[in-house]
Amino acid sequence: MIRFEDLLEKVRAYSPDADVELLRRAYVFTAFEHKGQVRHSGEPYLIHPLAVADFLADMKLDVVAVAAGLLHDVVEDTLTTIERIQELFGPEVAHVVEGVTKISAIRFSSSEERQAENFRKMLLAMVDDIRVILVKLADRLHNMRTLSHLPEERRLSVAQETRDIYAPIANRLGMSKVKNELEELSFRYLDPRVYETLRAQVDARRRATEGLIEQLKNTIATKLQDASVPVVEIDGRIKRLWSIHQKLKAQRIELDQVYDFIALRIVTTSVKDCYAALGIIHQTWSPVPGRIKDFIAMPRPNGYQSLHTSVISDRGMPFELQIRTMEMHRMAEEGIAAHWKYKEGRIGDHKDDRYFQWMRQLLEYQQEVRDPQEFIQNLKVELYPEEVYTFTPKGQVKAFPRGATPIDFAYAIHTDVGHQCVGARVNGKMVPLRAHLRNGDIVEIVTSPGHKPSRDWLSFVVTSHARYKIKHLIRLEERSRAVDLGRKVFEKEARKYGVSPKGIQESEAFIKAQAEAGARTPEDLFALIGYGTLSAKQLLGRLVPADRLREKPPEGIVSAAVRRAFGGGEEKIKVSGSDDVLVFRARCCNPIRGEKIVGYITRGKGVSVHSATCPNVLNLLYDPERRIAVEWDKSASDAPAVSYTVKLTMEVEDRKGLLAAVSATIADINTNIKDMEARTSGEEGARIDVTVEISDLKHLEKVIKSLRGVNGVLDVSRAGGAGRIGG
Ligand code: MN
Repeated sequence: MIRFEDLLEKVRAYSPDADVELLRRAYVFTAFEHKGQVRHSGEPYLIHPLAVADFLADMKLDVVAVAAGLLHDVVEDTLTTIERIQELFGPEVAHVVEGVTKISAIRFSSSEERQAENFRKMLLAMVDDIRVILVKLADRLHNMRTLSHLPEERRLSVAQETRDIYAPIANRLGMSKVKNELEELSFRYLDPRVYETLRAQVDARRRATEGLIEQLKNTIATKLQDASVPVVEIDGRIKRLWSIHQKLKAQRIELDQVYDFIALRIVTTSVKDCYAALGIIHQTWSPVPGRIKDFIAMPRPNGYQSLHTSVISDRGMPFELQIRTMEMHRMAEEGIAAHWKYKEGRIGDHKDDRYFQWMRQLLEYQQEVRDPQEFIQNLKVELYPEEVYTFTPKGQVKAFPRGATPIDFAYAIHTDVGHQCVGARVNGKMVPLRAHLRNGDIVEIVTSPGHKPSRDWLSFVVTSHARYKIKHLIRLEERSRAVDLGRKVFEKEARKYGVSPKGIQESEAFIKAQAEAGARTPEDLFALIGYGTLSAKQLLGRLVPADRLREKPPEGIVSAAVRRAFGGGEEKIKVSGSDDVLVFRARCCNPIRGEKIVGYITRGKGVSVHSATCPNVLNLLYDPERRIAVEWDKSASDAPAVSYTVKLTMEVEDRKGLLAAVSATIADINTNIKDMEARTSGEEGARIDVTVEISDLKHLEKVIKSLRGVNGVLDVSRAGGAGRIGG
């Protein structure tokens, strides 16, 4: 147990002029107020405020903070009022105690709406006086250290709140020592089985590892001494269980496969010495590529500075190294608390302090967020370390988790901007939509009215906001396509058997079939056909007598106008007298205009159109119910020009100038080359692959014929499932 006299000694040591009388009065008062109260451990309650105050003294905080630490629970847990605290200890102490009391009353596990409001309150309290959150963190740390005495339910909720809220806040304030301990303790209580197993596994390897750590420390000390690089401290340790656990989870491996669970730290005297030490380390052991990080030149958002590297030891075991100066070390461990200098007054007076800038910015930004879910989402992005800050062209900050793309950015601006996003300029240059945004990027989104998001986007967006919006729209579109397609397929089938689809929806049989299929509306029922879960013929069978369906139906033809749709790959098919429904040109054979084609109703995506020569057709069309006749629309002359990319493979003689002759021939017939590649295939032969833009079958035949005429070209064939065409 901490004795009050020891606490006084500690404060006097860093602050000889401290008002120790204030501390003494606070101690006596809190001892009196909490008298008779006991902790869950059975110990006197007084232990807790003393431990909190002692921790604040460790951070070398002023007497106001330490006194507030002693008094932090009296308003909450006794009959004392804030007014009484103010009378006895002055407005400053009362202010901090009030702030801590308010934060302590917050239950962060409440609904999202309440959470958002609570966070706002906490941010306000933090910006108002940072000592509030420092006292609260000290309070939480002691509570976490003594958590085992609490009943399980309470234990879990405190640990969860610590992991979700207080550890990230400690991290954002640069207080890694506090953050680490909070994370480690949360892990222990939230996932005790995993924690204990991992601890046992690490312990089993501890002896061997500790030997290695000693050996590495000695080698480093000798090498640095030889090079006259001053060393303040070399520290080596096994990484924290929480960080090992996260690594195992992220890489889906077992402990035996994690080599680098050792971390060493070199503390030296100057920035120059840090880089010198890094050089010596890399001369001694091979660095692991991609693991060298210079947080001295580019500090983390929370102010953290260090050089990081991983190297392979002589035993083939990688280990991590951090190299930093004394000053950086203190900043890294204590963060905002290290900024504190006793005589400079309140930390809050340092208006240019980066932590305050961050908090004010956060508060300002969040004040405009009305949706609590978005508020929490944003806050998480703000609190977690691996974040990227990007800017709109007007300089507005948009923060994202690492890996965010221009699509995430577009949706963060507005849902419609997201939906209509077709391109992005980052720092003035066009980038792919899946590009990763980086800190400081200025992002400009290019939109095209009417453009729709692609399903592909879901594979690379990282924000749940963007993901949700994309999915929602795709679901709506798919359904409306399915309804449309289902209705058309049904009507066509009906006509085939001489059944008029007109008015059939109102028939009793239809309503009955609808109910039996579990559909609430005719649209729902047509959607089932469109999705391919119900066949049109099945439905028809319930609507008309069986004998009518036995008649041999005439072969129906859907006339098709294949038009180029945005983004390529998706095209629309025009069914006579109806709206557009979606068709795909099958990717396996890429049928081109003029070629003989067959259609196949896919599950939910529309009709896929294959070349009649496609080897997949026979396999795919095992289900005749889903086969649908299609043909190229002969009257589609007013449709925009379509172009298909077709890859041709040529067997050629291996001689100079042939590549040039081939490209000249293609250019002569006004055909675009998208890609061309030549390679030697055997002793005498060679191959040229060329991808060209083709408008229809006639065009393709012309290209193939011209290429066959080139001297040295032995054979031309169309690559892909369709095989050779044109004999
Ligand atoms: Mn407390």
